[in-house]
Amino acid sequence: MKLNRRFNFVLLLLFLSFCLQACTAAPEEDNQLRQFQRTFLGSFDTVTQVVGYERNEDAFNEVCDEIEKRLMHFHQLYTIYDDNDESNNLKKLNEGAAEKPMPVDPLVMDLLKEGKTFTLKTNGSFNCCLGSVLSLWHDARERAVKNPAEASLPSKEELAEASSHCNPEDLILDEKSHTVFFKDPELKLDLGGLAKGYVVERLARELEAEGVNHYLISAGGNVRSIGDGLPDRPWRIGIQNPDPEKQGLLDTVALHKGAVVTSGTYERFFICDGKRYHHIIDPVTLFPSDRYQSVSVQCANSGTADALSTALFNMSIEDGEQLAEQFEAAVLWLDNAGELHMNARWKEIRLPADAPHR
Ligand code: AMP
Ligand code: MG
Repeated sequence: MKLNRRFNFVLLLLFLSFCLQACTAAPEEDNQLRQFQRTFLGSFDTVTQVVGYERNEDAFNEVCDEIEKRLMHFHQLYTIYDDNDESNNLKKLNEGAAEKPMPVDPLVMDLLKEGKTFTLKTNGSFNCCLGSVLSLWHDARERAVKNPAEASLPSKEELAEASSHCNPEDLILDEKSHTVFFKDPELKLDLGGLAKGYVVERLARELEAEGVNHYLISAGGNVRSIGDGLPDRPWRIGIQNPDPEKQGLLDTVALHKGAVVTSGTYERFFICDGKRYHHIIDPVTLFPSDRYQSVSVQCANSGTADALSTALFNMSIEDGEQLAEQFEAAVLWLDNAGELHMNARWKEIRLPADAPHR
């Protein structure tokens, strides 16, 4: 696991530095602003990168310290792997919410409401209650990374049994009593496909309300602008090529305001009998989805973009186009044959390599 993650960090850093090199010009209308950047690891097990325009470094550092602190707070609430002594995080819910309703922080309630809504809207292509199935794949990945020679897959029988405990109707969110209850004792939450995008969206809105402007945050492939964009000078967002052997970016888009989120098979995976098994699980086959190498989504809200990028992995392009349109989302698919597909909205935001940018 650790090896894969480290590899992933390197890829991501390369990608981001490429993308951000392309963003070094200061907004012309205020030449006192300078660009600053910071990268940090930790929250959500991933790399976060912040780019911002400020008059001085102290102002930038102050914003970044806040971002780092708030991301860690969200991480502690939303993790299914780490304990949190202060309140009922998702790990504690997975351990105890089938026994009795458990009180939760409003931030947990709100994420779960979003997760359940997306699960119902995507007909389970994104399913926040898929934890029983996902944990079998997670354990297989951990075992394989620790001891590659002993890599093995979850059995079809255990996957089928686990999949009978993934019904979102068994997740009872009581907003009046602020409690969460699982009607199915085997139900397990996994919000990994939504939480980072949701957090980035919340954080961006909080910072915007506090007056932060001209910033871009990227947390593990979840990119969101903060503050007003400059109409003639968009952020330029490079989409990583999942194949490390291939030079250059898959595509480049202009972002004035909003989010760009990518899900990819290169993010987390393990090898068994020479075959790669990645981390996005098709709820029909219960195996890693076999349609695409990556799916990128651009839309106003980064939580929506995150849930969509995971859901679209498990759908045909035709069905995905219809779902994306409900959210006015631009989408880029890279299929397993290496072919790029994009909807009309994506075509509108594509940038030629030499376009003006921030
Ligand atoms: P992302 O990289 O945003 O596509 O999220 C991938 C993560 O979402 C995985 O690591 C799992 O935690 C979770 N996940 C995998 N498959 C699904 C699915 N079909 N529905 C919901 N979450 C999923
Ligand atoms: Mg996602």
